[in-house]
Amino acid sequence: MSDGPALSGERALTDEHARIGELVGDRPAAWDVAGELPVDLLRTLGAGGVLCAEVPTAYGGRGADSRTNGELTAYVGSLCSSLRSIMTSQGIAASAIQRFGDRAQRKHYLTELTSGRLAAVGFSEPGAGSDLAAMRTRLRPDGDGFVLDGQKMWVTGARYADLLVVLALHGEDAAAVVVPADTPGVHIEPVADPLGCRAAGHSQIRFDQVRLPASRVLGGGGQSLSLLFTTALSYGRISVAWGCVGILRACLSAATTHARRREQSGKPLAEHQLVAGHLADLLVAERTSAHACEAASRSWDSASPDMVVAAVLAKHASAGHAARGAATAVQVLASAGSQDGHVVARAYRDAKLMEIIEGSNEICRLILSQHALDSL
Ligand SMILES: Cc1cc2nc3c(=O)[nH]c(=O)nc-3n(C[C@H](O)[C@H](O)[C@H](O)COP(=O)(O)OP(=O)(O)OC[C@H]3O[C@@H](n4cnc5c(N)ncnc54)[C@H](O)[C@@H]3O)c2cc1C
Repeated sequence: MSDGPALSGERALTDEHARIGELVGDRPAAWDVAGELPVDLLRTLGAGGVLCAEVPTAYGGRGADSRTNGELTAYVGSLCSSLRSIMTSQGIAASAIQRFGDRAQRKHYLTELTSGRLAAVGFSEPGAGSDLAAMRTRLRPDGDGFVLDGQKMWVTGARYADLLVVLALHGEDAAAVVVPADTPGVHIEPVADPLGCRAAGHSQIRFDQVRLPASRVLGGGGQSLSLLFTTALSYGRISVAWGCVGILRACLSAATTHARRREQSGKPLAEHQLVAGHLADLLVAERTSAHACEAASRSWDSASPDMVVAAVLAKHASAGHAARGAATAVQVLASAGSQDGHVVARAYRDAKLMEIIEGSNEICRLILSQHALDSL
């Protein structure tokens, strides 16, 4: 269990950034090329409570508010989107357990998640991507317990996970169930050569008559599918949005540094106005994304009714800014940023995936347009 102090205030955040920066060092490029994160680092960060920093201190977490956790997420995202993806998954798992688990489940599982055990979350299926209501994975009663059958796709971090939080149909309703990854009948197959976030351990999972005790079904099950999705996705969207702010900060830093140093036609690139325009675009992208994230975090912390829309807006805006911003940064560095493993090349591939996960661009626009129609 984490023995770190509660994470609040600028000073504590700066200290935590320094600690993480030291642990990560200059290794993210090598992790990206190898397609693998060091599990001992994930366990160290997990045991420090930083992979799910919003978990209350009573459960070994850092008791951070969403904004503080967001800044931490952005910092990790500026270093390595694969590592940030693990943080998002651990945070979604923790928020689902906190929201749907009973008192004993919260104590047991949240304490595990702040002790270095790692979690991944499965909702997507071969036939249920954008249309999560088409889910087929099912939990059915069997004696004192349950049996789980089905498939999940592209589960971030499943390759490293000790626990899988799986969304499944349950009678007429749905349930979130905590499945130890080594349970007989659980088959985990890593996704080969993903476009981006290459070290995030994405995996396909098959559940083949997996027998589970009733104590693993959060809150006994019987929740509405849409409530389960909305809860998991809202946390995930805010987390991914802050991760995109991190991508933009890394791109802005690399582009400004390069534009100051590199000279062409007798002066630094930064003094060529068309290049300077790219730097301005990157700054606008980073600042506007951060503001959208801050608004979403405030809504999350105050459990405001507009939280769902604020999370979608932050994720959609930040992912678009990150995808365009990373392309802009590659443009500024040109050949200097065009090699595998370079921070802007990595950002370019990682950022594109942010427009797909936690609700694709199209799904986000549908939700936002419906909100406009309903509220104006
Ligand atoms: C890097 C990465 C990490 C992921 N991590 C996880 C994870 O941890 N856990 C998990 O469960 N899943 C995860 N996923 C899966 C992810 O949630 C799905 O990829 C996503 O929901 C989109 O589903 P799909 O890929 O099946 O695309 P589809 O749903 O087949 O969509 C294909 C295209 O059609 C568009 N489209 C679909 N329906 C509509 C519609 N009604 N109106 C307009 N346009 C539409 C989409 O926007 C998209 O452009 C991950 C995926 C990626 C790439």
